[in-house]
Amino acid sequence: MLRQDALYLGGEWIPSAAPGRIEVVNPADGSVVGAVPAGAASDVDAAVAAARAAFPAWSHTDPTTRLDYLDRIHAGITERAEEIAALISREMGSPLWFSRATQVGSSLAVLASMRSSFEAIPLEEEIGSAVVVREPLGVVGCITPWNYPLFQITLKIGPALAAGCTVVVKPSELAPLSAFVLAEIVDAAGLPPGVVNLVSGTGAPVGEALAGHPGIDMVSFTGSTRTGSRIAALASQTIKRVALELGGKSPFLILDDADLTKAVPHGLGKCFGNSGQTCVALTRMLVPRARLGEVEEQIAERIAEFPIGDPLAEGTRLGPLVSQEQRAKVIKYIQSGVADGARLLAGGADVPPELGQGAYVAPTVFTDVKPDMRIAREEIFGPVLCVIPFEDDEDAIRIANDTTYGLSAAVWSSDPARADRVARELRAGSVFVNNAQMDLLAPFGGYRQSGIGREMGRYGIEEFFELKTLRSRA
Ligand code: NAD
Repeated sequence: MLRQDALYLGGEWIPSAAPGRIEVVNPADGSVVGAVPAGAASDVDAAVAAARAAFPAWSHTDPTTRLDYLDRIHAGITERAEEIAALISREMGSPLWFSRATQVGSSLAVLASMRSSFEAIPLEEEIGSAVVVREPLGVVGCITPWNYPLFQITLKIGPALAAGCTVVVKPSELAPLSAFVLAEIVDAAGLPPGVVNLVSGTGAPVGEALAGHPGIDMVSFTGSTRTGSRIAALASQTIKRVALELGGKSPFLILDDADLTKAVPHGLGKCFGNSGQTCVALTRMLVPRARLGEVEEQIAERIAEFPIGDPLAEGTRLGPLVSQEQRAKVIKYIQSGVADGARLLAGGADVPPELGQGAYVAPTVFTDVKPDMRIAREEIFGPVLCVIPFEDDEDAIRIANDTTYGLSAAVWSSDPARADRVARELRAGSVFVNNAQMDLLAPFGGYRQSGIGREMGRYGIEEFFELKTLRSRA
């Protein structure tokens, strides 16, 4: 039976100072999946005190031993993989196959990558007459979103713990349950008390208390750009380091020599995965105007490959959105696209009545979208694709870069040299060419309002160090 009635503080399960609970609701049918403590600012004080107390010993623990603990967490997640996958599907709606492969699978892959990433970092190096030493930064507050609830936590605590930091985790109030399983796994793995602490709750008071806490040395945040801005403001009061992984409006450039039978299905998959609730979703499909008709035909043929339905049912490709609020927000964007004159090619605001009251949105495609329309500029975070025509490669690059975001982008062409040239012109942290996939050893993060700092691989671990210069000569 999953422990969800108390917080995990200093290696013990302790009741929250707040009397209330937050119900976790299944977006497929409105049923209650669980309830976690509402959390209070004083719980954050207790968690930070525990993390501070644990820091001196943990930061001096041999790195190999720290990595061994991460292996034990990996083993614990593996053992409970099926339970976690089902829980995530029920709390936030991703299809069960996707929860197994991506929600849990990527969490395991991140933890498995830590040892080789860590070993690539020189903990000491000579630079000029000095010795430069990497030291663990301190206590890290980890604030995470609901779209990949366990993966986002492992992306933070894996490198933070490897580097020698201790952590206080605040998961999203919409999907906190896998974090509670993780706390049980951490406990069973025998990590020293206080190295990992868990406080549930909403953005205010719990997230804000963490972001502004004088006992926290760094906030590692993943979520919306709006919240990231607020967290940076709170953190600035005590000059904390911040790492921000924020929103996106990523372009997919299909150049005029591309094989559309391959490029279009790839683009649909990368937009609609996790019902469009992915920060790197390729939501703007940029296509040569001369081939717009062919692209539309391909989309019309392929859209049936994305059936929506019960996340636990076999064959479901898109589950519901995380909540009714998220659904309402996405429907408003769809309505704005129609009002602004974009042409609706598939989907729309209606869903099949047999899906009942779930938070479903059909995979929706607008075509002939103008780059200045709201649907082409703002992050929708739902299964909505904008097809935008361009004239030539330079025009495509201009439209792609005409955004306040810069998280990811993709280019598809049959000419590798041309694709590479275009990819280098795009202002984004990750640019994929043809069907390239994300490599967990390579850095991941945003340009501009998509964030500050990098996660994954050795660069992700390096965020959690201070650099000390030891002078070897006067
Ligand atoms: P959100 O910003 O609403 O919430 C994220 C977390 O911040 C939650 O834990 C929430 O409780 C907390 N929070 C909210 N207000 C706060 C405040 N004032 N102070 C401190 N904490 C606060 O984001 P969300 O809706 O959970 O997630 C969706 C967003 O996350 C999208 O914009 C998406 O692009 C982004 N995201 C980015 C990445 C990335 O790696 N760049 C990955 C996944 C999601």
